[in-house]
Amino acid sequence: MKDFRQRVSNYKNLELKMKKKIVILPGDGIGKEVTAEGKKVLEVIAEIFGHEFSFEEGLIGHEAINATGNSLPEETLSKLKNCDAILFGAVGHPKYDNDPTLKVRPEQGLLKMRKELGLYANLRPIKLFDELLSASSIKPEILKGSNILFFRELTGDVYFGEKGRKDEGATAFDLMIYQRYEIERIAHKAFKAAQTRKKKVTSVDKANVLESSRLWRETVQQVGKQYPDIQLEHLFVDTAAMKLIQNPRSFDVVLTGNLFGDILTDEASQIAGSMGMLASASIGDSVGLYEPIHGSAHDITGKGIANPLASILSVALMLDISFGMKKESEVIIKAVEQTLKEGFRTADIADERTLSNKILKTAEMGNKVAKQLRDKLALDSTVLQTASYNASIS
Ligand code: NAD
Repeated sequence: MKDFRQRVSNYKNLELKMKKKIVILPGDGIGKEVTAEGKKVLEVIAEIFGHEFSFEEGLIGHEAINATGNSLPEETLSKLKNCDAILFGAVGHPKYDNDPTLKVRPEQGLLKMRKELGLYANLRPIKLFDELLSASSIKPEILKGSNILFFRELTGDVYFGEKGRKDEGATAFDLMIYQRYEIERIAHKAFKAAQTRKKKVTSVDKANVLESSRLWRETVQQVGKQYPDIQLEHLFVDTAAMKLIQNPRSFDVVLTGNLFGDILTDEASQIAGSMGMLASASIGDSVGLYEPIHGSAHDITGKGIANPLASILSVALMLDISFGMKKESEVIIKAVEQTLKEGFRTADIADERTLSNKILKTAEMGNKVAKQLRDKLALDSTVLQTASYNASIS
């Protein structure tokens, strides 16, 4: 009976049917393959929970350069400024990786998009599904129970500081620059998130040698005073890199700048077993952008073997953070967990124990998660219908 009531109250938000406009930016390489599966899951959620999601696509990256000469055309930007959330794939093409002299580049579209939309905080949850303990290169006993939430600053640092060459090209520089307000606004987000978790923030910098890091540390300490319930620790980036592998469970929320965050989150992806498992959210004060942390993966593009789970988990983040659809987000994570529990894997997360008939291609994995959602929710909504019928006759 208790279970029955619980399920009914869990589904109270069925009454809150929402209308949302989502822009999908597949981008390049496997971006197209994985966002198709993210969209599939959004369609199932809309169908079952009664929401209305409308979709529009936009060009970005190499594809956009080919079509328009611009890595983020105005038409795409205007769609992004008029939607409720963005599902992004990845940008990149070997042509640019192998020729650093090319002036118009796919990643410029990504940087411009973050800047134009004011997306200053990148959230990367690093959660290990127990079923994938053996897929990581780190020992299971060290990993088990790790659950880290990274806050990487996105609009400052060496990526946006003055850059150039002098001495006839023989000297190059990239200015590492931060302003106090940029640090304050992301620090508040990190402390607030820690309040809903294990109440610890680890701020990562290089304050022993870098002036911008000294401002970072000073500012985080000041913001931290407003959150007396949160334990604040500071680590130098080199120590943080070591501790992430040595004792990942010692972290809760990690707050760091753009460059250090870029490197540390890729390192932390090994905790989750594969790049193909990690989702991220880029948020600011308006529309949110959701994307896997991986790139366009030229080595596997077109083979249909990319892992779509990071894109699907990005959708779960979107529903939670941008739309406040906690239940919908939760059921997606559960569906992914159940799919893994049943032994299904894409090639990147398979190991010697994976049965060959359980190694799925990209679209098959998307279908499997969609089916899990339908099966679980169909079962639960039967209970709900019975409940509302009972309520109406009593
Ligand atoms: P990558 O993330 O594309 O690939 C790294 C490795 O992980 C590859 O072996 C790849 O096959 C594997 N991998 C990545 N995602 C996977 C998935 N979903 N399923 C299975 N395996 C997966 O990084 P890279 O090779 O360094 O870069 C390739 C291109 O992507 C470059 O052009 C780079 O500039 C671009 N890139 C874009 C973004 C972005 O758009 N956000 C991020 C990183 C790299």
